[in-house]
Amino acid sequence: MGTYDIPRQRMEEISDLAEYLAEKYCGSSPVIVPQQIAEASEIKFTTGNYKNAFDGLTRYRNNKFRIFINLRETDNLFTPRVRFSFGHELGHCKMDWHRNAMMQPGVRPHASFLDYCFDSEEEREAEFFSSCLLLPESRVRKDIFRKPFEYRLVDELRLKYNVSITAVLLRLMALDMRPFMIVCTRNGKIAWQRCSHDFPFYRIMRGLNDAVPVDTAAGEYFADGSKYSKTQDVFAEDWFQLYSAEDRRRKFHEHCVYYEPLNQVMSILWED
Ligand SMILES: [Zn+2]
Repeated sequence: MGTYDIPRQRMEEISDLAEYLAEKYCGSSPVIVPQQIAEASEIKFTTGNYKNAFDGLTRYRNNKFRIFINLRETDNLFTPRVRFSFGHELGHCKMDWHRNAMMQPGVRPHASFLDYCFDSEEEREAEFFSSCLLLPESRVRKDIFRKPFEYRLVDELRLKYNVSITAVLLRLMALDMRPFMIVCTRNGKIAWQRCSHDFPFYRIMRGLNDAVPVDTAAGEYFADGSKYSKTQDVFAEDWFQLYSAEDRRRKFHEHCVYYEPLNQVMSILWED
């Protein structure tokens, strides 16, 4: 479980740098193309099927950076997952202290996985950089201005910017649009969770071996395969460890996003 939180000021610096690069090299199209930024910065990149070795890798050799992007068998440079990986690797090349660390003698190539569970400062920052690059702050602020937080908005942004749902959610969380939590469950066990700094609950009612709580939409999927395309209502007591009885019937929305290849459900939880 990741515990590193990027300090506020650092987040702003990263967001500004990413937005600057997106505006400078990618024109006004909403779909930011990381490879354009790499080309303009004279960072070479190579794509291939590297199986499960990494999602992205950055190497510094002979005074040059090279990014390797794993397309696996079916993906291409326009697949949202791949775009996010490319943005992540660009982050390692573009953020000063990442770049400087990789330029030290004897440093091995840096391999990254997009599993969102990492606990390392540099991985969290690269992940955040990528969400800021693909979803530049001022553009997204315009898109969400005076709009309610609901799944439809997340879906609209995903399509407009050609990014994953996770990328949109991480971006909205950083922009403090509204307090919400993301819980990612794989094979019935909670794999990772993230929440806004002002989300009212933090501890999930985990079962044995981190099992997802049963009386939740995610829990139902793993119990009997039930899937919901619509947002469901759940109560605080279904999801969270509570410290006050008054919180038991606090109503939350839960929207599930299912990803069968990984036997995964991502629950987005928020209050009205
Ligand atoms: Zn990385």
